[in-house]
Parts: sequence; C-alpha cells; structure tokens
Amino acid sequence: MKSISVVSDNTEFDVVIIGAGINGAGLFRELALQGVRTLILDRNDICTGASCAPSRLIHGGIKYLETGEFKLVAQSTLERNLLLRNAPHVVRPLPTVLPIRTWFGGIVPSFRRFLNLGGKMTDRGALVLEAGLQIYDFLGRRARVMPRHCLFLNRRTRREWPHMAKDVVATAQYYDAAITQPERLGYECVQDGLETAPNCEALTYTAPVSLQNGHFVLRDVLTGETRTVKARVIVNAGGAWIDQINAVLGLPTKYIGGTKGSHLLLKHDDLIRELKGRMVYFGTPDGRICLAYPFFGNVLVGSTDLRIEDPDKAVCTDEEQDYMLRMLADLFPGFHIAKEQVVYRYSGVRPLPATNAADPGAISRDHITHEDNLAGTPLLSLVGGKWTTFRGLGEEVADRILTLLDYPRSTSTKELAIGGGRSFPSVEQHTAYLDRLAISCGIPRPRAADLLDRYGTLARKIAAFCQEEADAPLRTLPSYTRRELAFIARNELVRRLSDVLYRRTSIALSGRMTPDVVQDVARVVGEELGWSEQDIAREAQAAWKEGRERHNLRGEFPLSSESHEILKA
Ligand SMILES: Cc1cc2nc3c(=O)[nH]c(=O)nc-3n(C[C@H](O)[C@H](O)[C@H](O)COP(=O)(O)OP(=O)(O)OC[C@H]3O[C@@H](n4cnc5c(N)ncnc54)[C@H](O)[C@@H]3O)c2cc1C
Repeated sequence: MKSISVVSDNTEFDVVIIGAGINGAGLFRELALQGVRTLILDRNDICTGASCAPSRLIHGGIKYLETGEFKLVAQSTLERNLLLRNAPHVVRPLPTVLPIRTWFGGIVPSFRRFLNLGGKMTDRGALVLEAGLQIYDFLGRRARVMPRHCLFLNRRTRREWPHMAKDVVATAQYYDAAITQPERLGYECVQDGLETAPNCEALTYTAPVSLQNGHFVLRDVLTGETRTVKARVIVNAGGAWIDQINAVLGLPTKYIGGTKGSHLLLKHDDLIRELKGRMVYFGTPDGRICLAYPFFGNVLVGSTDLRIEDPDKAVCTDEEQDYMLRMLADLFPGFHIAKEQVVYRYSGVRPLPATNAADPGAISRDHITHEDNLAGTPLLSLVGGKWTTFRGLGEEVADRILTLLDYPRSTSTKELAIGGGRSFPSVEQHTAYLDRLAISCGIPRPRAADLLDRYGTLARKIAAFCQEEADAPLRTLPSYTRRELAFIARNELVRRLSDVLYRRTSIALSGRMTPDVVQDVARVVGEELGWSEQDIAREAQAAWKEGRERHNLRGEFPLSSESHEILKA
C-alpha cells in the first residue's frame, strides 16, 4: 500500500505533535492558523484512541459540581456553547433528563464530596439536584444558546415516562449537547490546519522511533519507511499512551493513570420511542452515573469507569455489558432489555492523571500540561481534558508554544467554524438551504438532506463530485453512493479501509456494517487508492476482524475461493 506522506528527510518543523486524538488535532489546527509550521503524526488514524470512544456528550459536566470543580464546569459549558455554534453540523442540543427518587437524599454525601472528604452519591434527591442545576445554568450563561432547566413533578413525569421505575418521584430536565461524529470533527480539525497552512503536515500510521538532539526518526507502520524530521518544540498528545511515548523519546514519566470506559449500542424501538430524542442521565446504586440516548437509530448506553494498566487491551467485556444492561433495566422495568439487542460496543481509555484515588469517578477531568526539556528541546505532555474542552486546551497550549517560539498570536478560534460547520444554515434557513442544494446539484431532496447531515456544508462539494461521473448507490448499503465513498478515500487522508468504515463515516457506528458491506466499500476505496486485489482482500479481512474483536460484530467473513487464493498468494 502506498504512503501518503510527503515529508522529506530532515525537514525542520516549529512543532511536532505526537498523537492525533482530539487534543493533538485541535492543537494542530490552532497552531497552523497562527502560521506555526507544525507536523502532526499518529501511529494509527486520526481519532483512534479515547477520542473515538466517548459518551459523545459536549457538556459542562454537571457531576463535576459535586467535586467542587466550578472552573472546569464554567470552561466546559462555554466550550459547549461555542461548539454548538462552530460545529453545528455534528454538535446538537440534547435535552437531558435526571430521574429523581427522593426529595432530600444526597445532601450529606454531596457536602462530603464537595469538601473532598469522599463519599458515594447513591441518591441525588430533588433538593440537591435543583441546587446543582441552578449553579449549572449560572455557570453556563456565557454564549448561551439553549433553555434553562426545569423540574417535573410526579404526574408529568409519569406522563412523559410511562415505562420508568415507579419509585421515580420527579424528573429534572436541562440541556447539554451531543456530538454525532467526533471522529469526523477530529479529522476536520486536521484538514482545516492543512488547508490554511500548506507548510504544515499530517502523517497517519506513523510513529516516532527515537529522538536525538531534536532530530526524530519516524517510521511509517504500514510501509516500514523511515525518515528524519527536526522539531523546535515537541508535544506529546498521546492520551493514555503518553508515558510509553515519552519512554521512546528517552524520558521516563508516570503521568497517566487511565480508566477504561465502555459503551453499547442497543437496538430497541420501544426505548427509542420512550426517549423521544432525550437522554436519561441516571445514578446507579453503586454511586456511578449511566446514560442512554438515541443515536443513529439505536440507543447509546454508557458507560463504565475501571482502572486499566495497558490501554491497548481496552475492550468492552461481557461483564461490563451485563452491568450496563442491568442498570438500564432497573430504570425501565417495563421493557425487555437483553444482550441480543446489542448491535455494537466500544471501549476507550480516559487519559486521566496518575493518582492514588480509590474511586476512579472522583479523579478530576481537568487537564494538566507537563513541561519537560529534552536536551534543549521543550516537550509538553497534554494529560487529561475532555472532548468538550479541546479548543480551550489547544488555545492555552498554543499560547505557551507561541511564547516559547516568540511568535505572535494572529487568530482566535473562539468564533471560528470548523470544517463542514462553515456557513451551516440556521434552523430557519435549513429548508431553503436543502432546496437550493438539491436543485443546484441535481439530486433528490432526501439525498441532499443525508449529505448535509453527514458532512455539513462539505455536502455541496461532495454532491458536485458525485455528479461529475456516473454514480451508483452501493449495492449493500444504498444510502451511500460509490462516488461519495470515492471522494472520502481520495480527499480525506485515508490509508486504510477501517478509516472509512469506522471514522470518516458512521457506517460501523450506526450498526450497519456487515461482511458484505465491508467487501463493497473495500472495492470502492481500493480502486480509488490504487490497491491491488490482495490489498483489497486483506483490508476487508482486517476491518471485519476489528469489528469482531473490538465491537462484538457477529458473523463470519464469507471469503470467496478467489479471495482465498489472493490472500494465500
Ligand atoms: C469512555 C469514555 C467516555 C468519555 N466521554 C466523554 C464525553 O462524553 N464528553 C467529553 O467531553 N469527553 C469524554 N471523554 C473524554 C475524551 O474522550 C478524552 O479526554 C479525549 O478524547 C482525549 O483525547 P486525547 O487526544 O488526549 O487522547 P486520544 O484520543 O487517546 O489520542 C491519543 C492518540 O495518540 C496516538 N498514539 C499512541 N501511541 C502513539 C505513538 N507511539 N506514536 C504516535 N501516536 C500514538 C493514539 O493512536 C491516539 O490517536 C470520554 C472518554 C472515555 C474513554
């Protein structure tokens, strides 16, 4: 398979960022926009670590009020409000409902947690929640775009939630937001940087092998090619792998104490109907918080929070699945909830700071930047943070780097739309925009709506590309067309089939990936990228294997005798 890299030996960059999760990708965009010559690299694709495994909430983190992290909540609610404006194609308001089982429960433990004396919150009563929501609304007032919270008493709660447990005496509703495709937004951050600053570079499937006097040896993990680049500042944005990367760079550290979190996608039409587009965010008897909300036609259920030593071993286990299904069934005893309804599952590791805290849920979700020095080259390690706050973190770290390099800041990203969020129509303009898109590109309106939903305003460019040559729906997944996937393969830093199935599109995440779909997409992507028959067969096999091992997809890959021969060759 060909390499897409264009970095020649000994190229000198101002900054090299290792790790293209959302923190690396966000910082890359931030620096590129300031004209700082930056290289970002990842040993996998963009957003393959924690950044493709979150609960997909763009939120202030109401639960952090219990640990007194007001500054974090204020920053997160502001970033949430900004993302609703800057990435409206993927970030949307999410009405969130808290079931309440008592009126006065949780007052003592909430004080203990607030004073840092520990204590599990097994019961958050109406009084505690009302106080929390008042503060949450107040902290989220900057750049507000969504309504304030309200409390519903028993009768309204029963009407709204006929299948909810009978001991729920009231519900509180407030607004946060959810991101449909975090993996795409991460890619779009990198793409924005590349488009603004042609002297910046992005290398996927590339890892550092060694570092000496600011000279990096990098290795392309697909082709085995190596090359050398030089950096004035190094950023380690390796998430849960930060300490491993520092070890490769010759600096032993113990910055990370990650916890694993898993999610399920449940096919459950009755529950979808009950949820009516809202999320339930509910406490569990063991003091954790679980959530469930509609996601691409299924219900996203999460999550767990378990200590893990080796982030490469993070997969959702059957025990975690049973736990999440049990918690959901406790809240909705009126529904049959069973493991056969799980169509997809995923797991990731939160890159939290190393601590001795007994309760992983009590570890701060705020970020810390460690600054070290490697023989005169500054090395910044970005620990923690939330998906929601990536822009703020990027801005803060970029300011530090600009000081180190003695560069001025030229642009603020605060009001700057990302990727397909540029010129995105408001709710009022939506219908007229779709009509114009359909007419100008000669496509049916539902197809225009699909493209706008998937790619934001990039839809126009993709629709035009689809019109340039004969196009056809994919045989096994007709809502996607061959030219649409070819556009992605050609233009979106794609090197492997799984990049398309798992990250540039929502094919896998929406639970629609079957062996036949994998083979169909493999052929289109392979033809576009000039893969051999053997590459196509291997990539299809690898993508399905990933689905079976990491996402619990069921079914064998039906290999034709022809494919068997190709793979043996
Ligand atoms: C279960 C779970 C639920 C979450 N829910 C939410 C939520 O709802 N809302 C929210 O705001 N946040 C949430 N988060 C937190 C958020 O997802 C993370 O804080 C964020 O994604 C961390 O991004 P990162 O870029 O630091 O790390 P990662 O996304 O892990 O990126 C690190 C990158 O480094 C790369 N890498 C590793 N080793 C090497 C190497 N040797 N060479 C080159 N590259 C390397 C990896 O491939 C990876 O792409 C959740 C996290 C988890 C795990």
